[in-house]
Amino acid sequence: MYIRSGEWVIISRGKFTVRLKDNIFKNLRFRVFLVVMLAGLIPGSAALLGIVKVYETRAVALRTAEIQNQCTIVTNQMSTNHYFSDTSSEVINSDLIQLTNIYNGRVMVIDEDLNVVKDTYGLDEGRMDVSENVIRCMKGESTNSYDKKNHYIEVTAPVTEIGSRHTIGVMVASVSTDSIEDSIHILYTQGGLIIGLCMILLAIVAVIFADRVVRPLRKITSAIENVSAGYSDDILHVDTYTETKNISESINKMMGRLKLLDDSREEFVSNVSHELKTPMTSMKVLADSLLEQENVPVEMYQEFMGDIAKEIDRENKIITDLLSLVKMDKKGQTLNIESMNINNLLEQILKRLRPIAQQKNVEIVMESFRPVTAEIDETKFSLAISNLVENAIKYNRDNGWVHVSLNADHKFFYIKVEDSGIGIPEEDQAYIFERFYRVDKSHSREIGGTGLGLAIARNAVIVHRGSIKVYSAEGEGTTFTVRIPLIYAAS
Ligand code: ADP
Repeated sequence: MYIRSGEWVIISRGKFTVRLKDNIFKNLRFRVFLVVMLAGLIPGSAALLGIVKVYETRAVALRTAEIQNQCTIVTNQMSTNHYFSDTSSEVINSDLIQLTNIYNGRVMVIDEDLNVVKDTYGLDEGRMDVSENVIRCMKGESTNSYDKKNHYIEVTAPVTEIGSRHTIGVMVASVSTDSIEDSIHILYTQGGLIIGLCMILLAIVAVIFADRVVRPLRKITSAIENVSAGYSDDILHVDTYTETKNISESINKMMGRLKLLDDSREEFVSNVSHELKTPMTSMKVLADSLLEQENVPVEMYQEFMGDIAKEIDRENKIITDLLSLVKMDKKGQTLNIESMNINNLLEQILKRLRPIAQQKNVEIVMESFRPVTAEIDETKFSLAISNLVENAIKYNRDNGWVHVSLNADHKFFYIKVEDSGIGIPEEDQAYIFERFYRVDKSHSREIGGTGLGLAIARNAVIVHRGSIKVYSAEGEGTTFTVRIPLIYAAS
């Protein structure tokens, strides 16, 4: 365990790293667990509450109806027995006491003047009762109400005079709902217990389920960790869900691309080393053979030193080409884009190369179909065209020709470099833009190439969002066409 920038971090050998300060809600396993638990708890609790509510409503309604029936029976007896003339009637008073005992409540009888003539609790006898329900009942209407807070139901029933519908008194029965409350309490306790047990079972299921859900993700993570730690080049196959399958495929694609890059970088480094070593070896052989001999004639010295100088030039050319290529390869390289007259630029390039062409008796002809002005990086563009024209001269026959033409439409300008040279075999045409690729190594070496010229040309064209193509027939000649937008479009 160690502290990093104020965080407590627990490390348990490689596999899991848990940061205590990490928000647990961001943990997918925890979220799945929570969702499953809530999916169980919310409907379970809602069902329990619903059941209790339905029970309570029904129990109160039944109890109210029951009391109302009892009250109607007693009030009828009161009318027939003229209870208000003589409130000491044994029969009725014992009915009232019985009602009180059975329903654990209180019964009061109120006369027409709102005086309490009978109270089974004996508290309010002789007093007046002007409660709303009593007054409403005095008008002939039975009432009932449920006081949930104080746990009782109050029922009023009118006592009507026989023969008329005149209300001569009111019977008020207040009965306790404690037994209903007890049942509700039992329901809650038992229901809560069942829900609790279900939640424990659900928690176990939720832990297993959450683990199953995130397992494919853990598989992907550990596979990626293995790859980044260099333990494996394995392809990922996590097909549990469509999503993980898609992720696996994307990762495999990315890894394939990285591997390709890595391979090409390795190949590049090995090619570079090889190419740089070749002139070195030649120089070493030449120098050693001079050193091993005694009394070497001056002519031999001059000849060997000339060869060494040639090798140094070659080494120099390889390094210069490599630097141009690496500079061009760099992502986010800055281009020095300017609006240039392409006709003039081509003339300048050809002017520089004419002496080389003359050495080989190669004629260079330039043909412009129209004046062209375009947005280009002069250095990179010149490098591309120089390499193409240089090749057209190098790989030409004696007294051959190189034809350079320039044309444009409203969007692009086109440069064609045609030669009457040795041509490129069809099977090699797909590879000539690769670094260090040469069609005929010994011949190319004799001619003096590095195998980087076309790679540089292609890169230079691509950074201008252009394209380059080759058409060639062996022994007849080669044509390179370059297409570049007139207006540079930065990506
Ligand atoms: P190099 O430095 O060898 O010229 P490049 O990358 O410029 O390297 O060219 C790659 C190979 O393509 C050359 O070695 C050569 O075999 C072939 N090539 C390029 N341009 C021409 C051409 N105009 N005519 C015939 N072969 C060509």
